[in-house]
Amino acid sequence: MGFRGWGSDLTEKRRSQEDASRLAHYDSLTGLSNRFQMSQSLEKVLAAHRIDQRACAVFLLDLDRFKQVNDTLGHPAGDALLTQVAQRLERTVDRQGLVGRLGGDEFQVIIPGQTPRDQLAVLARNVIEQLSHPYSIDGHRVVIGASIGIALAPGDGVTSEALIRNADLALYAAKDRGRGRHHFYAADLHSDAQERRQLEQDLRDALAHGELELHYQPVVHTATEQITGFEALIRWNHPVNGPMSPAKFIPVAEDAGLIAPIGEWALRTACHQLAKWPEHVRIAVNVSALQFANPALPAIVTQALAQAQVHPSRLELEITESVFLNEDEDTEAMFAALKRVGVRLALDDFGTGYSSLGYLKKAPFDKIKIDQSFVSGATQPGSRNGAIISSIVNLAEALGMETTAEGVETFDQLDLVRMLGCSHVQGYIYARAMTPDDASAHLAAGVGAVAMGPRSARAVRQTMLRKVLVEHGGDNYNATIRNISATGALIEGLANVPPGTIFQIIVGDGQIVTGTTRWCHEDRMGVEFAYTIDLDSAGRITPPANAAAAVPRLLKTG
Ligand code: C2E
Ligand code: MG
Ligand code: MG
Repeated sequence: MGFRGWGSDLTEKRRSQEDASRLAHYDSLTGLSNRFQMSQSLEKVLAAHRIDQRACAVFLLDLDRFKQVNDTLGHPAGDALLTQVAQRLERTVDRQGLVGRLGGDEFQVIIPGQTPRDQLAVLARNVIEQLSHPYSIDGHRVVIGASIGIALAPGDGVTSEALIRNADLALYAAKDRGRGRHHFYAADLHSDAQERRQLEQDLRDALAHGELELHYQPVVHTATEQITGFEALIRWNHPVNGPMSPAKFIPVAEDAGLIAPIGEWALRTACHQLAKWPEHVRIAVNVSALQFANPALPAIVTQALAQAQVHPSRLELEITESVFLNEDEDTEAMFAALKRVGVRLALDDFGTGYSSLGYLKKAPFDKIKIDQSFVSGATQPGSRNGAIISSIVNLAEALGMETTAEGVETFDQLDLVRMLGCSHVQGYIYARAMTPDDASAHLAAGVGAVAMGPRSARAVRQTMLRKVLVEHGGDNYNATIRNISATGALIEGLANVPPGTIFQIIVGDGQIVTGTTRWCHEDRMGVEFAYTIDLDSAGRITPPANAAAAVPRLLKTG
């Protein structure tokens, strides 16, 4: 017969219910599970009926340098970056686990089941690698990194609170050990975290009570052996643990927000010291990437110089490559602003970071400091460091920059960096960092720096007095080899030879070796061979089996 009833459209209501539930469980920016959903999923795994199904691994992941992107490029760019991170993360983890965003730049991955540690380590490394590839955000190239802490159930905890807390400690340890890495939870991390909190507090006190000091390490001009300046290096005598390395406490200061006041103090103290020293002496001060990102830096530098009344060109700021990780206008503007102040800029630890030659062209550096890791191995037989140093020197010369070889400890290394043309040397061979008074006394004595130290890290150079003939441009000269190694020789008897001059050295037995003069001082010169020669213990040279096929060494010719 028919029916009677009523109806209404529930679509909107349903949709908003779904929205509400989605909002409650998913992160609106990235679409990943949110903190609530992740914690429910973890609880579910840990409460599984069968004990053997309660095993799982928790990754806590934190982006390195995300804050810098957010601060410099703005929040919309930060959001775009997080979205891309989420996509890469999901793609990399794929079906192995559940990915969520806990908030900010913190992500979590739950991997159900018992997975061997080495397999988890592979996944963690893979995630870090994928997230570290450059991103393109609004036409900017952005590079960030990621650190991961890992805790396993049931070994590291059977409740979600314990697991998360321990993964968090592991994450902290990963960041502490230099970021861009993963770390598994271990019981001793609890005491590490406690120690770090204590260190932060002690550092705060040290700054407040004036317990930090600057010591000064001479920087020596290679050709004249005169001290051209000093690098200011911070020193802290910890009240309980004794002297502590800045390599250890500067990162703590950076994390605890203490690097700004410490950096400002260092600048003021160094300028104050400069005022007491002769005009020709400079001081270099290390500036952390966090200070460099602070728009107030040029004003802080200007003020320190003005208060001490020293000329800006006497102050050099040492910056590491990490300031280039985000290529944005702010970096360029900061360089320009510092140049307007009139200070010199040095690129510190060159070769250890994300060395890209692109920025050398744009950034107005006055000096490149070649990292000590290149110097320390350079005199070992077969090392390619010499070739690397030589090309850095050539590059710097072409760009009108000076070069300092860092960490020179032995005479061998000194000879080599001289031979390769580094304009300045800094290292224990001349002096360690010293108190301001000792540095003043050094300057007052007026003598040049005196090299003192072991002859070599390994005895590869042989001293000798061998008469040889040296041929250049059709003329023969008598000379004496004072010492020789597989890569070069110290030759006496020719004066005022321009560096770059190429010689044929007739060493007897009809052996001829080609070499290029790297430096010349009075009647002595350092010559670098065109290829690595074989020396026997008596200092005799064995010709390469096939001289034409001998591996040429990287040489600057002409
Ligand atoms: P850096 O700027 O590369 O400084 C050079 C480091 O090499 C110094 O270590 C110096 O003592 C050491 N060194 C110099 N010659 C030799 C050598 O012949 N052999 C060896 N093995 N080492 C040598 P230090 O003083 O422990 O400083 C470590 C790092 O801490 C510095 O590296 C710098 O990055 C940072 N740092 C030091 N002072 C400050 C500061 O005032 N502010 C900031 N932001 N960082 C600082
Ligand atoms: Mg430095
Ligand atoms: Mg350095």
